[in-house]
Amino acid sequence: MEAAEASAGDAKTSSPGASGGETLIEVENLTKFYRDFHAVKGASFKLGRGEVVGFLGPNGAGKSTTMRMLVGALPATSGRARVCGFDVHEDDIEVKRRIGYLPEIPPVYFDLTVMDQLKFGASLKGLKGAEARASIEKSIDRCQLQEHVYRLVGQLSKGFRQRVGLAQALLGKPEVLILDEPTVGLDPKQIQYVRALIQELATEHTVLLSTHILQEVTMVAQRVIMIRRGEIVIDDTLADLHKKHDGKSIEEIFLAKVEE
Ligand code: ATP
Repeated sequence: MEAAEASAGDAKTSSPGASGGETLIEVENLTKFYRDFHAVKGASFKLGRGEVVGFLGPNGAGKSTTMRMLVGALPATSGRARVCGFDVHEDDIEVKRRIGYLPEIPPVYFDLTVMDQLKFGASLKGLKGAEARASIEKSIDRCQLQEHVYRLVGQLSKGFRQRVGLAQALLGKPEVLILDEPTVGLDPKQIQYVRALIQELATEHTVLLSTHILQEVTMVAQRVIMIRRGEIVIDDTLADLHKKHDGKSIEEIFLAKVEE
């Protein structure tokens, strides 16, 4: 049995999600103060199994802060987050097994080869022996890194480093992928490649994808959560958003919300 199949069965809860299915991500009133700056103001949302949700917001809106709290990388000032029913702080090991997180800057070491980086990533996920080797091979395949396996990460272009970060996030076939602006700073060809890869991944994982590029949301997601100045201002499917706003484009709706 694959790790993801094994872990899918032993999630702690299976409450109904926003999509009516099992809830894999549950964010409840998450709040973050950086000293006296209120960066995230009581964010709440749920993602059901299989959902692909675009997390949209202008620069500085609070996307990365929310995601970092959601994966347990940053303590929240208040509120809580659960992944597959596990609290991100109380059950952090269970959460890490089920989550693939690609932060804005991929967590890679420039002086490791791609292979050693992925071996290191696999060990952090608790993968060992044959299971680790199979998972690394699959990730390399998936992200088309075959020709770069023995190159140093530091010698790769930014786009390929991003792919190494993605490959690392995919190790252990996590049920949930949290991708923080995965195409930022890439050239058009790499953007196209990474978007196509995300579209492919979206068929197998529950994905929360942050971006400030509207086109990216409409390409891969069925639902959008929009954050502005730390507050969630929209949480709806793209189809319902169009209906509720007289057929306006997502771009028009987004710009109107940002300017409100
Ligand atoms: P971007 O799209 O530019 O990455 P974002 O939506 O991800 O933006 P965050 O990075 O979450 O936004 O930042 C939200 C706010 O919190 C910003 O005003 C930012 O300057 C501030 N901020 C982020 N990290 C810190 C920190 N460590 N200390 C103080 N303020 C911070």
